[in-house]
This record gives sequence, C-alpha cells and structure tokens, in this order.
Amino acid sequence: MKDLEMFSIIEKEAGRQTKNVELIASENFVSHEVREAQGSVLTNKYAEGYPGKRYYGGCVYVDEAETLTIERAKKLFGAEYVNVQPHSGSQANMAVYNTILEPGDKVLGMDLAAGGHLTHGHPLNFSGRTYEFIPYGVDRETETIDYDEIERLALEHHPKLIVAGASAYPRVIDFARLREIADKAGCYLMVDMAHIAGLVATGLHPSPIPYADFVTTTTHKTLRGPRGGMVFCKAEFGKKLDSRVFPGMQGGPLEHVIAAKGVCLWEASQPEFKTYMEQVLKNVQVLVKKFKDAGWRVVSDGSDNHLILLDTMSSLGMTGKDAEKLLDEAGITCNKNTIPFETQKPFVTSGIRLGTAAMTSRGFKEAEFEQVGDWIVDVLTNGTAEHAQAVRNDVQALTARFPVEAQI
Ligand code: PLP
Repeated sequence: MKDLEMFSIIEKEAGRQTKNVELIASENFVSHEVREAQGSVLTNKYAEGYPGKRYYGGCVYVDEAETLTIERAKKLFGAEYVNVQPHSGSQANMAVYNTILEPGDKVLGMDLAAGGHLTHGHPLNFSGRTYEFIPYGVDRETETIDYDEIERLALEHHPKLIVAGASAYPRVIDFARLREIADKAGCYLMVDMAHIAGLVATGLHPSPIPYADFVTTTTHKTLRGPRGGMVFCKAEFGKKLDSRVFPGMQGGPLEHVIAAKGVCLWEASQPEFKTYMEQVLKNVQVLVKKFKDAGWRVVSDGSDNHLILLDTMSSLGMTGKDAEKLLDEAGITCNKNTIPFETQKPFVTSGIRLGTAAMTSRGFKEAEFEQVGDWIVDVLTNGTAEHAQAVRNDVQALTARFPVEAQI
C-alpha cells in the first residue's frame, strides 16, 4: 500500500526542482547523505531533554547523534556553546529572546524593507508583538548599513538587545563595529547569520562568533543542511538557553533533523565545501556584471555575498511581482523583494532577490551563470510571457545536464 496521491505530488515537485533554474537566495540543494539522515529511522524517536538527561528511555543512539552534531557545530564555528534543537530559524531567534528579554523590552532590529527578517521585529510577528522593536536601516546613498544611525538609536533608546543579520542584504556586516556600539549602549548583541552561515563556516565572511553574545542560524541556506535552526552563545548563557528551548518552547527534538544537521556540518568542514562557497561568490559576480552591463541598477551597487537585490523598478519600470512572474514563465525561480526605501506594497515590491547558492550546488559555474544572466536580461527586457515561455526550453536543456543533489 502506498499513498499514491501524495507521492505523485512529491514527484511533480521533484520534476520542478530538476527543470528550473533555482535562484531563491535562501534555498539550496542538499546532498544525498543529508536527505538520507533526515529520512532515517531517527524520525521514530522521542527524546525530550538533552544528551544524558532525557525524559524517555532508549535514547543511547540519539544521544550519540546529538552530541556529535553539537561537537561538530562548536568546532566548525569556534563557539563555546550551541543548542542544535530549534526546529527553525524563527525558533532559534525566539529562544534567544526568551533567554534574555522580558515582554515589552526594547530591541534594535533591521527593518524588513531594508533587508531584515520578520523575526527582527515585524509588527505582525511574535517579535514585534512581544517586544518594543526600534527599526534601523541602511544609508540612502550607499544602501549599506548605517552604523552611525544604529549607534545614535542605541544611545537614545537604551535597548536591551541589538539584533543584526538579514534576509536580503548583499554586503559584509561589520560585527566588530556592532560590538562596540553594544558595549557603549550597555546591551546584548545577537547576530542572525542565517543567510551567510556557509560563508562564515569557510572564512569567506567575518565570523560574528567572537563579537556576539548570541548567534543564531538556519541550517538550510548557504550552510546546505536540512531545514532547521541552531543557537550559539557564550558558555555562561548555555544552561538558560537550553531551558528556554526545552521545556520553554519546544517538546521533543527532531533527532532525524539533528543528525542531518550533523552530516551537513561534517560536509561544511571539508575542503570541497570551501571550493563550493568560493564558486557561489564568483557566480554572483557574473550576474552583477551582466545586470550592470545591461544598464540596470543593483542595490548597493554590487554584492559581497551569495545574493543580489535587483531594482527592477528603476531598471525596467517593472515591479518585483511582475519580474518574478515573467522569470517563472521562463523556468527561472526567484522572489520579489522589497528594496531600501521601498515605495510599493510588500506583495508588489520594486525588486527581486537572486542567489547563486542552489545552482552552484548543482554544479553551475561562470559559463552557466553567464547564460542565466543573458536569459534574465532577455526575458525582462522583452517583457512578454510568450517570449519567456519560449526561453523555457533552453533553460530546461541546460538544467537537464546537472544533478539535483549537492555533490561532495
Ligand atoms: N533569519 C533570517 C535572517 C532569515 O532569512 C530567515 C528565513 O528566511 C529566518 C531567520 C527564519 O528561518 P525559518 O524560515 O527557518 O524560520
């Protein structure tokens, strides 16, 4: 017996992933081994608690798996303490807030329109509903983080915490400067490195670990693991953090996902992973050049990491929503995204966000991204769905030559 209805849907999604060029900056293709661990028998096991201190019997092997993942995470990122149980990036952030904040406390967080995440204080999110977030943004001229503005806001509002890190910020973040500001204002610093974790792991972006009291991450973006979260902290906060995750916020940990996080961390510590991340950066530069050669405007005039924010409105007079739809017709998947000082609604937007992590995992190098860049320029310049659909065959001929799993 098999649920043919559900498996036929999964089959269709596998087909979509195979055929399309995937440019969503927060996505990736994991290795066969990460999927194998996540689909393993560990999904059957309840293990409330932590290794050596569980509320269930039979935890000897999941204890081994979770301990191995913890050791690998600490070693890879050079951290004193880690909790690998958060089910997602949002829950990792919630765990930190629950560890050091009380409802109503003041926090500085990056504005969603400037590149921040929902959990950094959006009014509809638990973060914005529970705490008093004061948003900071980017400089109007350079479209890079305005550290002077953060310092001014921190000294004016006396927040208990500064949250740094972003979902759509293409530039290096200066964690040392943020630490200085937090020290001046006498507050905690949390860095959400979800997007750049793979770059941090390989030394291709400065690490926030030496500077921040807490560092959160997802494991499924550039780090290329299963969907999930982790929290790093100074050893002094470890015990309280653990109790805020369980029993504070979650029940049984997803031990199959934790094992897959362990596999991902092992992969990320191999030299091949650094080569992969270097290729991700090279591929971004190919797209930046294509767009600039077309006379288009890239937010902040370029990128230092795995993503680009393209201002479709000033480049083409096209909303991000329309650009996303047209590219989708061509089999190129990306997402509409607000840009700094956005004038459109969040569901419309003036730009799109493009990342190279996923297709680089499939083996795309400069030559393939040259081609992808040409298609994007062609499809958006032409602007008709008919033309976009005509490009689709070429897109599919290219993707058919590449595996759909990360090769390590
Ligand atoms: N933090 C940042 C910076 C993110 O970009 C995201 C997801 O996009 C998250 C947190 C939340 O992760 P999740 O979707 O796993 O809750």
